[in-house]
Amino acid sequence: MKHASRTLLGLALLCAAAIAQAAPNCTLKLDANDQMQFDKNTATVSASCPTITVQLAHTGKLPVAVMGHNVVISKTADMTEVTTAAAKAGAAADYVPKGDVRVIAATKLIGGGGSATTSFPGSKLKPGEDYSFFCAVPGHWTVMKGKLVVTK
Ligand code: ZN
Repeated sequence: MKHASRTLLGLALLCAAAIAQAAPNCTLKLDANDQMQFDKNTATVSASCPTITVQLAHTGKLPVAVMGHNVVISKTADMTEVTTAAAKAGAAADYVPKGDVRVIAATKLIGGGGSATTSFPGSKLKPGEDYSFFCAVPGHWTVMKGKLVVTK
């Protein structure tokens, strides 16, 4: 009897662990700072998420004109062209090229103490494809970038 209940407890724990692992990650949370850095250089989201939420917080103090940041998601192969288009779009457009199909998601541009959120359907991402998140402000994306791993 004692043995059986221990087995049951073990099974319950295994199930809980499996559920925790299977739960899709539907949020990309990034902090940016006055040192032109994100707090992560890799993050994982799931293509099965009905909605993926991007949450950017600027933990610094510098104003948007000096150290503004945004988050843009694209295929890694498109990153260079998207940042060129972003530079042309300029600060008034939050350094996001409007209507650019290569942009999967983008937040607005924020300064120190600010935050921004955007969301998009997980179906826009393909598991195993090579994606990146980056700050599209000119000069920032060479350091402010990371790999976005997409699971099923
Ligand atoms: Zn930036």
